[in-house]
Amino acid sequence: MLNITVQKSAVLKQKPADEGKLGFGKLFTDHMFLMDYTAGEGWHDARIVPYAPLPLDPATTVFHYAQEIFEGMKAYRTAEGRVQLFRPECNAARFNDSADRLGMPPIPTEDFVQAVKALVDVERDWVPHSDGASLYIRPFCIATDVGLGVHAAKNYLFVIICSPSGAYYAEGLDPVRIYVEDEYIRAAPGLTGFCKCGGNYAASIKAGEKAEELGFSQVLWLDGVEKKYVEEVGSMNIMFKIDGKIYTAACTGTVLPGVTRRSIIELLKDWGYEVIEGPLAIADVMKAADEGKLEEVFGTGTAAVISPVKELDWEGKAAMIGGGKIGPLTQKLYDTLTGIQWGRLPDTKGWVVPVE
Ligand SMILES: *Cc1c(COP(=O)(O)O)cnc(C)c1O
Repeated sequence: MLNITVQKSAVLKQKPADEGKLGFGKLFTDHMFLMDYTAGEGWHDARIVPYAPLPLDPATTVFHYAQEIFEGMKAYRTAEGRVQLFRPECNAARFNDSADRLGMPPIPTEDFVQAVKALVDVERDWVPHSDGASLYIRPFCIATDVGLGVHAAKNYLFVIICSPSGAYYAEGLDPVRIYVEDEYIRAAPGLTGFCKCGGNYAASIKAGEKAEELGFSQVLWLDGVEKKYVEEVGSMNIMFKIDGKIYTAACTGTVLPGVTRRSIIELLKDWGYEVIEGPLAIADVMKAADEGKLEEVFGTGTAAVISPVKELDWEGKAAMIGGGKIGPLTQKLYDTLTGIQWGRLPDTKGWVVPVE
């Protein structure tokens, strides 16, 4: 149990008049959560304070060696006005897996969830009311030692900020075109692919830019060793429905274990689908498309929930999926998961955690 002090902001920001124009991660709320770590002392000074810049020495470790991890989650407002989180303990557990790999101190799961709840409670009025909009929550941790020596830091800062964000799809689910990256890689065995760390993103930006220039919305990463097997997409996991079965990469160290991914796998299994978590060659995906067996492809992640894919391009060949339309299973998964998150459907899985 953390002892969290709260210092309210004297002047509150104007809430956005038009929730339809929120976009993603552009606007931030009135407060933030901070907590310090000092070697020998542990985590201390948990506090909610007015949102403000962080004063950091230019020699702070994180600026030079990228010892940084983060999480991404949301608070949803139900039609009855309740505010709730979705499986926050999964984010807490993954945060600690990332922390371990980057040599950073863990935060007890219950403290992590308590901190998120406490901040969302203070920022309750910022949780959007319109359909599909939510309060995006970004917990992160940075190394704050001052000095240029390369070693695990002794001081860290844990921060949580919140950003009201609009519906990912303003006009319903919009299938995207994906570029299969065959030059750069995102992860390799033994590296940090399973961690949510800024470094992974830094190394992926160039490929994302290239794909965008070519008219694609995201990159599909292949495995880093053979560049043969599909792994994941930009900031989403990816699933393929081929001849009635669902395929997705296994979480064996090079893929980010998405909370959305695991929730969807549970739903699919409940519905009687066979889900194969393992290597799937991009050549076999293209072959299935040629044979008319590539039925549906979709990305999964907290931001978009489900992102239908209408086209995959690999080595100059294009695989078209579902005639550019969203598949029935993709739509059903989207409706079910968002139904649970926004409280329109009963939470039979115990996934929802109210912020009271
Ligand atoms: C966050 C993230 C995902 C999706 O994880 P969720 O928990 O479902 O949001 C997938 N891939 C990468 C690289 C990510 O950073």
